[in-house]
Amino acid sequence: MRFEFATAQRILFGPQTVHEAGRVAADLGRHALVTAGRDSRRAAPLLQGLQESGVGATVYAIAGEPDLETIRRGAALARREGCDLVVGFGGGSALDAGKAIAAMMANEGDLLDYIEIIGRGRALAKPSAPFLAIPTTAGTGSEVTRNAVLASPEHRVKVSLRSPFLLPSVALVDPELTRDLPPALTASTGLDALTQLIEPYTCLRANPVTDSLCEEGMRRAARSLRPAFANGRDDAARQDMALASLFGGLALANAGLGAVHGLAGPIGGMFPAPHGAVCAALLPGVMRANLRALRLRQPGSPALARYQTVARLLTGNPQAGADEGVDWVRSLVSDLQISGLGRYGVKKENAAELAAKAAQASSMKANPIVLTPAELSAVLEQAL
Ligand SMILES: [Zn+2]
Repeated sequence: MRFEFATAQRILFGPQTVHEAGRVAADLGRHALVTAGRDSRRAAPLLQGLQESGVGATVYAIAGEPDLETIRRGAALARREGCDLVVGFGGGSALDAGKAIAAMMANEGDLLDYIEIIGRGRALAKPSAPFLAIPTTAGTGSEVTRNAVLASPEHRVKVSLRSPFLLPSVALVDPELTRDLPPALTASTGLDALTQLIEPYTCLRANPVTDSLCEEGMRRAARSLRPAFANGRDDAARQDMALASLFGGLALANAGLGAVHGLAGPIGGMFPAPHGAVCAALLPGVMRANLRALRLRQPGSPALARYQTVARLLTGNPQAGADEGVDWVRSLVSDLQISGLGRYGVKKENAAELAAKAAQASSMKANPIVLTPAELSAVLEQAL
């Protein structure tokens, strides 16, 4: 056994912790670039805290999932305004944008120098500017991961900027910030969180630390995703989901993912589909395909026993078999009114191209078994 576990330098979790953000930021710098979601009014308590702590703020609104230009413009703005730290406040898009901008504030050259696949893929030479991550959704776990997902519209792909330097200085998770998330967003981001617990748990690079995080995270997501969807003001459910998301981020950054994320990357690059919704639509089909392939080609694989544990944690039934876990996820996805991928313009004709691109994705390499192009295409067609 050999593993490594790395995360943010500090994690602060709890209701009302957003009111400590100003003091936390004051330890990191004097003028913050604040990457905030579309509705930056939601950042009011944060901005007030920064002001009270004597930290200047320049707000940079991130509308939708960030692309390379978003990062270049943000880094230029930060330099112009003399920013010496970044605060990300929002969903995965605002946090990933903040991470990438913090990295480019400290490193020379163009963003493409450091991007895999479409760029030169060089390692970042210098540590990022200090970065405080404050999630307002419960899904991506981006507050504790070491990559930023960016779109390149010209290449029609999503790529990652990846480096240990992308780990935030501080992750501040206040579950009350997710109270006003509408049900549809609660559903898609929550199912992304669940996927990010199931995939690291069943993947080839799972380790004992990530296992315990995934088990606890799955338990909490299983009992709380439906209640959070039904009533956003259920604070206990919101707290469970914020923890599930955090644990998923800790797990994926240190173990890896699998075929759901392998497929979600190319889909997100080619179609305007939100990441969480794509993962939600794919999750039950990928679980089913993995189980079938494992039984057929690797019946001795330890992943089979892991899928059984997943089923037991999700259903709460200590006798449940692996397939009951898939059924449980399928009915959750249906109860939470997740649309098929067809809604975003994905068609049967795209399946082969998407499957071929997905086979190259880094997430796919950790999937418990290599799925054939035909198996991947079948998963996509069933998720339409
Ligand atoms: Zn995800």
